[in-house]
Amino acid sequence: MFDTNSVIGVIGAGTMGAGIAQVAAQAGHPVLLFDAAEGAAARGRDGVAKGLQKLVERGKMTAEAVEALVARIAPIASLEEMAPAALVIEAIVERLDVKQSVFGQLEEICSESTVLATNTSSISVTAIGSTLKRPQNLVGMHFFNPAPIMKLVEVISGLDTRQDVADAIYSLSASWGKKPVHAKSTPGFIVNRVARPFYAEGFRISQEGGADNATIDAVIREAGGFRMGPFELTDLIGHDVNYAVTSSVFAAYYNDQRFLPSLIQLELVNAGHFGRKSGKGFYDYR
Ligand code: NAD
Repeated sequence: MFDTNSVIGVIGAGTMGAGIAQVAAQAGHPVLLFDAAEGAAARGRDGVAKGLQKLVERGKMTAEAVEALVARIAPIASLEEMAPAALVIEAIVERLDVKQSVFGQLEEICSESTVLATNTSSISVTAIGSTLKRPQNLVGMHFFNPAPIMKLVEVISGLDTRQDVADAIYSLSASWGKKPVHAKSTPGFIVNRVARPFYAEGFRISQEGGADNATIDAVIREAGGFRMGPFELTDLIGHDVNYAVTSSVFAAYYNDQRFLPSLIQLELVNAGHFGRKSGKGFYDYR
């Protein structure tokens, strides 16, 4: 369904969108990058260039290769410019109504054969597709943070997703050097379902005064064998995003107390302390 000439659209140039644009450009695709916030798409592309510059300094990439990769990412100023895309990957705010609205517009702009993919962490792909004319063309393509480094991609089929669409996204992800896995559209899919208690129990230990955040992170990393503990990982993910994901899984399981969102995390969200991206979360990055 896709080859390296296929134009890949990415919507949302934040933490995930910029990384996904890099992955697609690295694989040789022309990439169109759109963000609703003015200047954000260009900032996303500049962020990719800055990150790759470190690889040049370490001798892992040539300056010419970086230049060519970055030149394949074109920031665009309107959604209408997504028309030539064979695949559009959405990585915007984790809200059902906003995602439905963006995909509804894309159906009018792009061709009938364009595959629409959502990077949602937790929202039902079936529900996002329910307001579309062609829900069979919608699929979950769930990357992990940081997208250029993490291998896993969950390929999520909603109730109406066509199997050949899911299979094409699976093959494309594999051709991008990723390790895809097929999953159905259950709340939180695989990783974000399993990870909910990982964050929640860490937050509870801290709230109960059982140990401080840095100690919990260190123990999980050093004894547990995890790459990161719950506090440093949610700081990386972004508390606005992580809290929205927990709230969505909690609601989807009829307020099952196992998925109860954390009040200490809500306070961080209320304060705008989203983690690394805002300079402060559980830890200070300024
Ligand atoms: P982010 O806040 O870093 O970036 C989101 C970007 O989308 C922002 O630049 C914002 O301006 C833009 N945006 C918001 N509404 C828009 C709209 N209607 N049209 C165009 N642009 C819009 O968020 P993120 O962490 O990149 O998360 C994006 C999506 O990816 C969410 O669905 C999230 O659940 C999912 N996700 C996040 C992570 C993570 O670790 N952060 C991992 C996997 C998946």
